[in-house]
Amino acid sequence: MKGLIQEGPPFEESVGTYPSLGVMAELVDGFINSMGTKETVIPPPPNSLKTLDLGTRHSPEGACLPFKLLLGNLMECIEKGANTVGMITERGPCRLGFYSLGMRLVFSDLDLNVGWFDFNNVNLRKGYIGRLRKVYKKTYGKKPSYFKIGRSFVIAFCRLAAVEALEKERNRLIAYEQEPGMVNDCFKRGKKRIGQAGEPIGILRALNKAKRELRALPLDKDRRTVKVVITGEIYCVLDPFANAHIETRLARLGAVPHRVIWQSSHLRYAMNLDLFQKDGKRAAIRAARGYLPEQLGGDCNSNIGHAIIAHREGYDGMVHIKPFGCMLEFVAQNLLHHFEGETGFPILSLTLDDLTADERINNRLEAFVDNLFRRKYHNTGGVAG
Ligand code: SF4
Repeated sequence: MKGLIQEGPPFEESVGTYPSLGVMAELVDGFINSMGTKETVIPPPPNSLKTLDLGTRHSPEGACLPFKLLLGNLMECIEKGANTVGMITERGPCRLGFYSLGMRLVFSDLDLNVGWFDFNNVNLRKGYIGRLRKVYKKTYGKKPSYFKIGRSFVIAFCRLAAVEALEKERNRLIAYEQEPGMVNDCFKRGKKRIGQAGEPIGILRALNKAKRELRALPLDKDRRTVKVVITGEIYCVLDPFANAHIETRLARLGAVPHRVIWQSSHLRYAMNLDLFQKDGKRAAIRAARGYLPEQLGGDCNSNIGHAIIAHREGYDGMVHIKPFGCMLEFVAQNLLHHFEGETGFPILSLTLDDLTADERINNRLEAFVDNLFRRKYHNTGGVAG
């Protein structure tokens, strides 16, 4: 590495982009649409094998899977014409705090002159609105009103919340679908309609219609199922490519997936809006205090708390998704193993990296779900993991 970071393009020539992260596009797209700034931003494509290949080729050795996918995804956006990146960052032991520096060095080495905005996700309120108004004024000649910004944020959040609500409904039903793919196809149609609705009331109508359509699908309601909580490192939990579509895989095996990490719950946590939420990240961190009194960062503490809550609420088991090389999730895995030994609550820690084969994921999930069925319906003991 040359170790030099290029300055980025002049402000007037900047074309923004951001990396793909689950349904983040719903939030950003909803916001920029409502602000009327769509033409200045290139949305990221969904992650694919090309993303992984690009990211792996240019990442430092030992980088975690989220780094590789985020880097590859941004490179795809730059190929499409973007030259300024908006990137989330964090303080603490999670490598997310170093992503910006690492990626900017990679881009400089490749002679890609990329501008950069960091958003510190532990304090989303700090100075961002002022910065946004200044940027907007430089581009459009006048500052946007606070009302316009607030309204755009409400619309964006409604869209995000609606898509997530639809995802929850899909997860509730997918294990009972009669024909594979039926529920996901219906979900995609509903998600598209939510994206096309511009106002909160339209978003709500689109959501309700999509939910009705999902519920009207022919379902095998007599199918025997088990209930499985999905948690882990946020990027891998939220991104269906990164987690190899684990929810659909579990559902096909007869496990109803219950994901506890959502983009909206993370945003609420970052903005201190989940103080009284019973199943949010803050509540999970509180629940984990007996095992981990210090806050380590990332999703380490909350993953332990989610296991405790899931056990208390009667779930049959939990899948903990962790990227290879992630120190925080490694700590969580060890404590989860301890919790599993103490309580008998089955937990599968699934490690993912760019070399993880589909067959390996299938084999581990099959064995885990099979064990859950035996415990639930044949009353046998034993702990999976
Ligand atoms: S939590 Fe782990 S995998 Fe995720 S960004 Fe941080 S270090 Fe990487």
